[in-house]
Amino acid sequence: MNRWRRWGAGLVGAALLGWIALAGAEPGTVFQASTIEALLNGGYGGETTLARLAEAGDFGLGTVDRLDGELVVLDGGFYQVRVDGSVHRLSHQTTTPFAVVVPFAPQRQLTLPVGETLASLESRVAGWSGGDNHIAALRVEGSFERVRVRSVPRQTPPFRRLAEVVQEQREFVLESLEGTLVGFRFPAYAKGINVPGFHFHFLAKDRQSGGHVLDFRLNSGELAAMEVSGWRIELPDSPAFRHAVLGGEARQDELRQVEKRVLTKE
Ligand code: ZN
Repeated sequence: MNRWRRWGAGLVGAALLGWIALAGAEPGTVFQASTIEALLNGGYGGETTLARLAEAGDFGLGTVDRLDGELVVLDGGFYQVRVDGSVHRLSHQTTTPFAVVVPFAPQRQLTLPVGETLASLESRVAGWSGGDNHIAALRVEGSFERVRVRSVPRQTPPFRRLAEVVQEQREFVLESLEGTLVGFRFPAYAKGINVPGFHFHFLAKDRQSGGHVLDFRLNSGELAAMEVSGWRIELPDSPAFRHAVLGGEARQDELRQVEKRVLTKE
């Protein structure tokens, strides 16, 4: 029997409420705009409106048109963390070149131990996920000792590859604050399509800070997790996407550099 289901029983009401609130969304289905490889390749032009994302989910992450910072989707709100670290609420007319959302309906909740880090959370989830071949949506509400985040600068054409742009990323160490981690774990076979493994963005409770998570350390927190088996991808209908050279060598080293790299020293 699927361990997630066994843990999951309750929360049907919450799932139903979530489903009613998102009448256009498919329950248990991740919706993503474009592919991670198109983004790595410099596909930064926004092709999908946040209105479209809002129909498909209330929880997720991504970036904004022109790679203008990090996108956090939380409880149906769309938040942009710009390269200067400032947070801005986005309207549904804003567009995105790459984003992932889901109608969040957790099947399992867990109190995390004091001192939980990104690495310990990853191994914890890997340990109880009943295999790594499904998608997991993960939300952590907590009080954080510290969170190391980054954001990226808005780009102008001609677009450079993302691995080059992240050389100019800005990093921030946020200390002693409450907030939410919004994340996904995608299977190893997702490479090219999404980010294999874990990918978290952070939004402070006061909505004054956040970003793409490089590391964290928790004082106390609760994990809510959802296993996802539906995966819907909408490909951009743009010349940039149509003519991009994709599907060659899987650029996993480049992806690691883009997603995990910490530029500044402690
Ligand atoms: Zn990110």
